[in-house]
Amino acid sequence: MGRDATLKIAITGHTSLVGLLGWPVEHSISPPMHNAAFASCGMDWCYLPFAVPPGALAEALRGARALGLRGLNATVPHKQALLSLVDALTPEARAIGAVNTILMGEELTGHNTDAAGFMRALRGAGCEPGGIRALVLGAGGAARAIGYGLAQAGAYVALLNRTPERAASLAADLRAALPGAAVEHGALSAALLTRLAPGAELVVNTTSAGMWPHTVAIPWPEEVAFPHGALLFDLIYNPAETRLMALARAQGARAENGLMMLVHQGAEAFRLWTGVEPPVDLMEAACRAALRGGGDAAHSDGR
Ligand code: NAP
Repeated sequence: MGRDATLKIAITGHTSLVGLLGWPVEHSISPPMHNAAFASCGMDWCYLPFAVPPGALAEALRGARALGLRGLNATVPHKQALLSLVDALTPEARAIGAVNTILMGEELTGHNTDAAGFMRALRGAGCEPGGIRALVLGAGGAARAIGYGLAQAGAYVALLNRTPERAASLAADLRAALPGAAVEHGALSAALLTRLAPGAELVVNTTSAGMWPHTVAIPWPEEVAFPHGALLFDLIYNPAETRLMALARAQGARAENGLMMLVHQGAEAFRLWTGVEPPVDLMEAACRAALRGGGDAAHSDGR
């Protein structure tokens, strides 16, 4: 018997608060995901979205500390700026260069649960990354976590970005953080993909090309054959099927969207804040219900 993903919570004088810092945040599906989890576990906790403009981030953190919040998530555009605003960083958050979760106690500790969330989702899709050849499209914030997770697990990683300098800089950071990591980099161009695609077993789209409302965009040059039999992991989950996923499937690849990464990064944050084992299936159901309810208005905003 599945649990109800739309259970309501009651706010009391003892309610523990957590929330999301972002700009914008109004379309995030993290509040329904976490609040459904709290309710199903019978916990007096509540998760709120906070729309914080970039210039007000430090002030918002001071306010959250004063108000006694137990934890925070962060999304675009705050993940990098938080590095210098928290009291301590986990080695992983420091190496990735981004904070997406803060544990708030005496000190504010910056964590990054995106890499762990991605790796769980990847393994859940039947892909064991050790020793495989992976193409990572993009070199923004999400690519930093994905590149770190894959390289640490022993994959051969090629980082390809529209702006090749960003891929070079990310590759240098990953090699510095993970000595011996097999990381190369280059332009997201038809010429380079034609050379690299045939041996690839995994392609991860970390670009925002194809994300709602720009669903016609595709980061893969359509004249280049998609590697047959590979797994495409697209971090986008709205729409549930991107043009890139359709192209990959049509050429004999498997394709997964980013919903389970969102769920697992949220589950990791839930575990950190509460010490309670997260109800992952319930969180997934809550996300799917929120996406159905939000229709086109629900963004794939990474949180
Ligand atoms: P970001 O830091 O802004 O990076 C965006 C990346 O996309 C850059 O590499 C950019 O290339 C590239 N890009 C944008 N438009 C492109 C186009 N038309 N063609 C080729 N490349 C293009 O964003 P982010 O935080 O990394 O997020 C990226 C995506 O991941 C978003 O769709 C986000 O929703 C998703 N995400 C999902 C999850 C999840 O849990 N499922 C978590 C985090 C992020 P340039 O460097 O050349 O500009």
